[in-house]
Amino acid sequence: MTTYKLDDLAYAYDALVPTIDEETMHLHHDKHHQAYVNNLNAALEGVDLKEQTIEELLKNLDQVPAEKRQAVINNGGGHFNHTLFWESMTPGGSNEPQGDLANEINKAFGSFDEFKAAFEAKGAGQFGSGWAWLVLDNGELKVTSTANQDNPVMDGVTPLLGNDVWEHAYYLTYKNVRPDYLKAWWKVVNWDVVAERYSAAK
Ligand code: MN
Repeated sequence: MTTYKLDDLAYAYDALVPTIDEETMHLHHDKHHQAYVNNLNAALEGVDLKEQTIEELLKNLDQVPAEKRQAVINNGGGHFNHTLFWESMTPGGSNEPQGDLANEINKAFGSFDEFKAAFEAKGAGQFGSGWAWLVLDNGELKVTSTANQDNPVMDGVTPLLGNDVWEHAYYLTYKNVRPDYLKAWWKVVNWDVVAERYSAAK
């Protein structure tokens, strides 16, 4: 059985200030994400599964005993989503998508600004906790949202970018105003990583 572990951030806790404050980064990474990892490992204790990545586990949920499946969706999803989230950000961001990905975004959404508006609308419109996504679905770029820690991988769809719209992601800085957080977040998005995910998936 695989024991999943929480990786350190690739940047300092205060590196994304002022978009994301340092206390939020500590709580979010060290407490919330760590809890998902701990709860995932606890849920899988004594379950006979082969060594596999968190993505492989979520792609093949039917291998998980029925009574453990929701715990794996919640906590395994939490682990996968947050790992992707940390890797999707970098201090200062990387501005805008370039090349092939930029062309495909323009084709799918009209323009980069229209893509951002559609993504923000998905995040703002997700009732309660969840995620906003840019995904590659059968070769097509789409924006979607999921509830709780559900994610596109469970549905065989490839996530390219995800923003966490749980209140714990933004409340200390943005209070109840989720749309302000969604708008500010573009300043720290690492489009180079998104482009790598796109190249690998298409
Ligand atoms: Mn979170």
